[in-house]
Amino acid sequence: MRPVKHAERVLTKVAAGLFNSIQFFNKYKPNPSFTPKWSDKPLLKSWQKSKPTLGWPRTTDSLCPNCVIEAREEILSGKRDVSVLVNEKIGEIKAQIIERDGEIWMVKDCPTHGHFEDMMAIDSKFLTHIEAMFPGRDIPAHNDEKLHNHGSSTIKYGRGSVLTVDLTNRCNMMCDPCFMDANQVGFVHELSFDDVKEILDNAISIKPRRQMSVQFSGGEPTISPHFIEAVKYARKVGYNSVQCAT
Ligand code: SF4
Repeated sequence: MRPVKHAERVLTKVAAGLFNSIQFFNKYKPNPSFTPKWSDKPLLKSWQKSKPTLGWPRTTDSLCPNCVIEAREEILSGKRDVSVLVNEKIGEIKAQIIERDGEIWMVKDCPTHGHFEDMMAIDSKFLTHIEAMFPGRDIPAHNDEKLHNHGSSTIKYGRGSVLTVDLTNRCNMMCDPCFMDANQVGFVHELSFDDVKEILDNAISIKPRRQMSVQFSGGEPTISPHFIEAVKYARKVGYNSVQCAT
C-alpha cells in the first residue's frame, strides 16, 4: 500500500476518534438544538437519532406477495373496502434476513401460501458497509395526519421529499413490461382535479418540509385532462420543483 494511503487511514481514524470524543462530552452539556422554519420540532443531535436493528441474522416485517395480490383483487372487485389496508395488517408476515454463502437472503413463510426466498445482496460485506453508513432516523414527521395514514406502513420520519402523483393509468404506449401495468389491468384509474388538489394540499402541509417536490406520473400524465391545471396548482400552493415523468 502506498504511504499516502497509510496516512489517509491514520487521518481518518484520528478524525473519527476526535469526533466521537466531542460527541460524548456534548451529551452532558449540549447546546440547544436549532429549529428550522420548515419544522415545528428541533433538528436531532446525531446521538439522539435512533436506528432499527441492523445486521444479520435478524427478524423483520415483510409481506406475502400472494396475499398482496389477493387483497388487491378483492378490493378492486368490491369484496373488501380499501380501508382494510389501513386498519388491518393485510399480508404482513415476519421474515428472516440471513447470510448464506456470502450473500444476504430474505426468507419467509406465509401460513397460506408457503415459503418465499429473495436475494437482498450478492455481497454481504458490501451490505455491511452500506448499513454502517446509515446515519439514523430523521426528525419525526408531524402535521402529517392527512398524508401519512397508511396503517403499519405509515412513514414516521423524514423532512419532505418527492411526492409522486399518478394522474392516470392510461398511456399511448404499450411497453412490456410496464412499471405501472398501464393499459393492461382492464380498467382506467384517473384522478379528478379535486383528487389532485386534495393530494397536493395534504402533502404541502406536512412538517418537517425541507423541500417538497412533486412529480406527475402515470401512465402518461400529459394524457390526463387535468395535467396543465395540476402543474399550475402545484406551483401556486408552493411546490418548489414540479416534475413530469412522460
Ligand atoms: S407508462 Fe411508461 S412504461 Fe408504461 S406503457 Fe406507458 S411509457 Fe411504457
